[in-house]
Amino acid sequence: MKLVTILGATGSIGTNTLDVLRRHPSLYKVFALTAHRNFDLLFRQCVEFCPKFAVMSDPKAATLLRDLIKQQGCATEVLSGPESLAEVASHDQVDYVMAAIVGAAGLLPTFAAVRAGKRILLANKEALVISGDLFISAVKESGAELLPIDSEHNAIYQCLPTLNAGEMHRIDQQKSISKILLTASGGPFRTLPLDQLSSVTPQQAVAHPNWDMGRKISVDSATMMNKGLEIIEACWLFGTDVDQVQVVIHPQSVIHSMVSYSDGSVLAQMGNPDMRTPIAYGLAWPDRIESGVEPLDVFGLQLDFARPEKERFPCLYLAGEAFKQGGTASAVLNAANEEAVAAFLDEKIKFTDIASVIESTLSEVDSQKVESIENILAEDDKARHIAQRHIRVLAVL
Ligand code: NAD
Ligand code: MG
Repeated sequence: MKLVTILGATGSIGTNTLDVLRRHPSLYKVFALTAHRNFDLLFRQCVEFCPKFAVMSDPKAATLLRDLIKQQGCATEVLSGPESLAEVASHDQVDYVMAAIVGAAGLLPTFAAVRAGKRILLANKEALVISGDLFISAVKESGAELLPIDSEHNAIYQCLPTLNAGEMHRIDQQKSISKILLTASGGPFRTLPLDQLSSVTPQQAVAHPNWDMGRKISVDSATMMNKGLEIIEACWLFGTDVDQVQVVIHPQSVIHSMVSYSDGSVLAQMGNPDMRTPIAYGLAWPDRIESGVEPLDVFGLQLDFARPEKERFPCLYLAGEAFKQGGTASAVLNAANEEAVAAFLDEKIKFTDIASVIESTLSEVDSQKVESIENILAEDDKARHIAQRHIRVLAVL
């Protein structure tokens, strides 16, 4: 029986994880569930899964959850605050940690799980993007098992040679691999006339054609910053260079990514676009378990591929440049993006302003050597202030 903590249990990845766990009560038990403010859903999850701990990062929400739990007579202990997130992620009794908090807010608890040598099911790509080498070094040092949940990286993992527990891929040391083909749906604005991009609404941006996801990642998919972050994520996860990663637009989202080998073989992982497949893979690895996802009906499939256009997706290129710059540039890129996306969702800036905010912020902050988590968080904070200043200017235009 494996004990599981879910960081970000009330989100899209969190609820999909619980759906897979619900199907396998003899294999997994929920140890802790965490959320930011949604005490109502966390309460219902506690009643169903009876975790030992529930953590609400917002103290007011924690008080409300504690009252509900008391009335229900549930044994779950309610904690609050960032230290408690790290505590339930690194607790001695925990085997697996699903890292599914959105954004840089997930860094500290995910890092705590890494340092404690847990199996990390990594959905929270921002944590790896901003801490890069520190994250990977900590995984190696603690012997943590790092399993990618992002569907593309999970697909790549499945198409690469099988590893032993605790081992990590280093593609730059394997001459047999020529390229990683990272697929992207192209989002809701793939074919929209370019002159209409500046007037799209948040509702249109979050309506993803193939995947049902949280609001922030849905906007990232529309700008393709999501794919930019995923290029960086792939470079760190698989020890590869940015030039070895080719982004391929594949609007049907049936192929989740591919690996091209030197003998001409291209291995692809396919399936219906449903995050329960990579979640089940991460939980059961190296075995496989039922996930609730319908098998792919291959008859009548149409698979299209195209190159991304630079004018339509400037964020994709900003991410590649930030990674090449190295140091804290990826953390600055991520922080500016988080601020810009929140401002767009609040209808303060236009969709096309997201890229401008990121570009201006990146050009104002000199990249520093990544030395510690504290130094990354300080750069993240600095970048957010600068991005906010650019947002204020754009908001009045
Ligand atoms: P979501 O917005 O649906 O859920 C986010 C979760 O994080 C919620 O439980 C929320 O309570 C919690 N949270 C938010 N802010 C927090 C804070 N400041 N402190 C603590 N907890 C906080 O997001 P999601 O779509 O489930 O995505 C989660 C992560 O997984 C993101 O990093 C995303 O990029 C990644 N991911 C998601 C998908 C998907 O299909 N949704 C696919 C691949 C990767
Ligand atoms: Mg993805």
